[in-house]
Amino acid sequence: MFTHLHEDHTRGALAAFPTASGFAHAAEVAYWKEATSLPDVRRRPALDAIAAFGDRLREVEYGEEILPHVHTVDAAGHTPGHTAILLRSRGERLLCVGDSFYDSLQLAHPAWRTPWDHDAERSVRSRRRLLAWAADENVPVHAYHLPFPGLGRVELWGDAFAWHPGL
Ligand SMILES: [Zn+2]
Repeated sequence: MFTHLHEDHTRGALAAFPTASGFAHAAEVAYWKEATSLPDVRRRPALDAIAAFGDRLREVEYGEEILPHVHTVDAAGHTPGHTAILLRSRGERLLCVGDSFYDSLQLAHPAWRTPWDHDAERSVRSRRRLLAWAADENVPVHAYHLPFPGLGRVELWGDAFAWHPGL
């Protein structure tokens, strides 16, 4: 399941799993196909991934159980179809937030954006919603760009959040 189709989230997927099927949000696939005004160097990794998976790339929506225990969650903003993934099994949960934030500084300052956010306002709203939910229900979180292994819990801290590494 691709949270989105930025290069650092697509490269190597087929090399590692040459017969795998893939999943990506329909709005994500449509955006990269249609974003003809973007420089080719920015679109190419997404288009390469879409082409490489071909019929094995299934387009999904938010709120779907795409595989047993694997649910898609609206995290739009970083890219148009940016998707968080909620794993649920045996009463346990893990929320994989993709690029909803890059650094724990964005929990202390949820309105801070990055140059890679496609729609900064929407990414801030998605970040606040996901973090508030993870804090409220004490759901463990995986975030790609935090120090390995990127696992932690979130605590509400005034009108911002604190990151506690580990489970
Ligand atoms: Zn990204």
